[in-house]
Amino acid sequence: MKNELLFDYGEIREKGGLKTSLKLEGSLFKDSVTEPSVLKDAEVSLSFSVGSDSLLLEGSVRARLNFVCSRCAKTFEGYIEEDFDEVYENPEEPIDLTSLVGESITLAEPLKPLCSENCEGLKEAKNSEDFKKTVDNPFKILKNINFEAKTAKKRGERG
Ligand SMILES: [Zn+2]
Repeated sequence: MKNELLFDYGEIREKGGLKTSLKLEGSLFKDSVTEPSVLKDAEVSLSFSVGSDSLLLEGSVRARLNFVCSRCAKTFEGYIEEDFDEVYENPEEPIDLTSLVGESITLAEPLKPLCSENCEGLKEAKNSEDFKKTVDNPFKILKNINFEAKTAKKRGERG
């Protein structure tokens, strides 16, 4: 299969830059997401601009995934998006963006996907000891929410 994420440094410099977007099959990045999440497909937008001795790449990826909700175990479809940039200085090989895009997908994948913000989890869980304990101590819930929010922010700031 032809690698659509392969770019020629000299050719792009000669053209004075390149803007393009690609639709890619999920199988290309199947190892970039953690089971049980499944990557269905991904759209990549790329903008190369020419520097004095380099090429600057600014890009973004929007990927469609099947997630399994971490609370109720329901399968649902969702999107993740991530920006990336990179500078290339006269590389000997053609520029291959496969790993850069794959890493960006990994960065954007939520650790604990939720089918909805208000997901109440499995019905059976309401009768379990764990659930009763959580309800008895509302601060425990707050603590967990704060932790998730912080994690999300940190991940967003990276890259
Ligand atoms: Zn759920």
